[in-house]
Amino acid sequence: MRVHNFSAGPAMLPTAVLERAQGELLDWDGSGMSVMEVSHRGAAFVACAERVEASLRSVLDISDDYACLFLQGGAYGMFAATPLNLSAPGDTIAFLNTGDWSTKAIAEAGKYAEVAVLADTSDSLHTTLPRPGSYTVPTGAAYLHYTPNETIRGVEFDHVPDSGGVPLVADLSSTILSRPFDVDAHGVIYAGAQKNMGPSGLVVVIVRRDLLGRPRRETPTVWDWTVQAKADSMVNTPPTFGLYLLGLTLDWVQENGGLAGMAARNQGKASLLYDTIDRSSFYSNPVDPSARSWMNVPFVLADPTLDSTFLNEADAAGLTNLAGHRSVGGMRASIYNAMPLAGVRALVDFMQEFERTHG
Ligand SMILES: *Cc1c(COP(=O)(O)O)cnc(C)c1O
Repeated sequence: MRVHNFSAGPAMLPTAVLERAQGELLDWDGSGMSVMEVSHRGAAFVACAERVEASLRSVLDISDDYACLFLQGGAYGMFAATPLNLSAPGDTIAFLNTGDWSTKAIAEAGKYAEVAVLADTSDSLHTTLPRPGSYTVPTGAAYLHYTPNETIRGVEFDHVPDSGGVPLVADLSSTILSRPFDVDAHGVIYAGAQKNMGPSGLVVVIVRRDLLGRPRRETPTVWDWTVQAKADSMVNTPPTFGLYLLGLTLDWVQENGGLAGMAARNQGKASLLYDTIDRSSFYSNPVDPSARSWMNVPFVLADPTLDSTFLNEADAAGLTNLAGHRSVGGMRASIYNAMPLAGVRALVDFMQEFERTHG
């Protein structure tokens, strides 16, 4: 039996995607082999990779001004690859620090360049967003980096930050494909696949072509965006199964109304859950309402000694992976694209019943 899986990542995938992959597993595309067993340079797989890129471009409305790369190393790898591709030693890189993933990106960039943290919401325990106009990007900064959705604290930007004319870089890992997104406002977007796109092991990089051509000499070839763009992400073996599953997920997104469809679905799910939390004094969510994520909803019980009872009973009811991140405790429901409204309804029903019996 499938459970309702609220994992923050790797996260659940749409059932339709898994069933299609299952149906094609032993004989992909008439090859008599699984997609994992064919050459990435063979005509069938090259055509598959081209279809995936075309779907990504269509769903996210990505123009030809951008290259789309499909690499290994995760978003964490791109924390290093971004400074290596976009800055020179001694350059300053500007950051907005809105949570744990921003903090890690800053630490990694600090190995390669000077970092300027223009705004830092740690005083609020990352429950707020920097106000537009409250910071100024230094002229001459190599780029401004931000994290549109902070997966651990459940904080999501409701606007695109003003980068003051320098390239804007977004770590979109936990909110890509969840709603329409202004690609053209960005120089670079990267995202690990395992939240909203497919299995782990694949990271998608969308880079404006005018930013290519300036990697540092020591940049690893597999993370050299210029070389990978020229080689259609096939300098070495790309994560082939991940690319294939991304293609199936993009088909599913298109069949379900594209990004507008995803936004309607996700907003409905998120408001059901936040309303349930806000109406109760038994549960609470600490995030400023204007900064609340549609993807990751952390919440705590008024009586934290009930946490383990809550998690055990939820698990027994088929609602799994609701423990908050180990660094913050409490609970977190990750409700990415693949989570159906019925899953959130089941969670909300469980929460109300738990409050009735333990409140
Ligand atoms: C999950 C996540 C990461 C880390 O991704 P990996 O693929 O594990 O490297 C980075 N940033 C954000 C916002 C994430 O949600």
